[in-house]
Amino acid sequence: MSVYLDHAATTPLRPEVLQAMQPYLTEHFGNPSSIHGIGRQARLGLDEAREAVAQALGAKPREIVFTGGGTEADNLAIKGAAWAASARGRELVVSSIEHKAVTQSVAVMERYGFRTTWLAVDRYGRVDPADVASAIGEHTTLVSVMYANNEVGSVQPVAEIGAICRQGGALFHVDAVQAAGFLPLDVDALGADLLSLSGHKLHGPKGVGALFVRQGTALLAQQSGGAQERQRRAGTENVAAAVGFAQALQLAQQERAHEGARLAALRDSLIAEMAALPGVSLTGHPTERLPNSASFVIDGVEGGDLVAALDLEGIAASTGSACTTGSAEPSHVLLAMGLEPEVAHGSLRLTLGRGNDEDDVRLTVEATRRVLERMRGAGERRPEVASV
Ligand code: PLP
Repeated sequence: MSVYLDHAATTPLRPEVLQAMQPYLTEHFGNPSSIHGIGRQARLGLDEAREAVAQALGAKPREIVFTGGGTEADNLAIKGAAWAASARGRELVVSSIEHKAVTQSVAVMERYGFRTTWLAVDRYGRVDPADVASAIGEHTTLVSVMYANNEVGSVQPVAEIGAICRQGGALFHVDAVQAAGFLPLDVDALGADLLSLSGHKLHGPKGVGALFVRQGTALLAQQSGGAQERQRRAGTENVAAAVGFAQALQLAQQERAHEGARLAALRDSLIAEMAALPGVSLTGHPTERLPNSASFVIDGVEGGDLVAALDLEGIAASTGSACTTGSAEPSHVLLAMGLEPEVAHGSLRLTLGRGNDEDDVRLTVEATRRVLERMRGAGERRPEVASV
């Protein structure tokens, strides 16, 4: 028995995606910058992939920069846009629950003298658009608020925030890495000037992503070298990965309504059954959340211990962000939502995906019940053992 409930960390490659990639790993191996036929074949694949990604976003192909993943897209957006607009101002407005790829990029900019207003979130992990309006000042050049949070799944009112940024004259970056495949991505409707995507969160390959850069948005490349990606990202393009990513995004968009509804129903029963276990409480917004995301805090247990115990039961879960696993610090997202550090230590994230069904929900709830009984029983006996 094995149940994979960690789709926010990564997803398996879809067979159709692998199939689309295969020719570009074998016979169409050319360098897309080469003039000869083999190069042109690779260029065609890359162009088609770019068109497909652009179409998914309601963007123009020239507005898509392929990157080496979501982290790189976030770095390019934050550092690239902040530097390019630095003559106008050095103030950034960023939500306090962003992924580390954003917060650490901002931290680098702060070392160069940029100032940040960190936006608070409510107890559900949501930003109040009114706070964005009051944070934007004369020297604010960039606002960054993620579409949906990777730890608690809460969805932000991005379109409202986008309109406020436009009014305030600030660029708006949206990290849509977790939202892609589940939520509408029309960049005009969202009011996004920059939007980050990642392949491996939507059954595409790892190490590939894209940054949408609205035409006319100045960006300082973060990598020096050749003129690839219209001089915004130097280096020979990973054609097979871009093709696979585009295919995965297209499939996810086509199936979004149907698969989203199926997952939301599974999520709701998972949340209801988990929250009925003693000491288990939901984190994040009860309804404004990703259709595949269920997250909890659990009284009296360490999230890491629980995840390890669930793994022995054949359930792959997570404490929160895969990127902070191994860190002793409680999640900055849960702390920003007002949870006490000792409560935040007991976090559990269960994220559903294409392969999951009702049986997986049942097995996970049963395993969690068993594991919690065991852990709590052991906890109660611990003083006796210690006194021996
Ligand atoms: N942004 C968010 C919200 C994420 O969840 C992740 C991955 O966990 C990233 C960015 C980074 O993406 P990648 O793993 O492709 O570098």
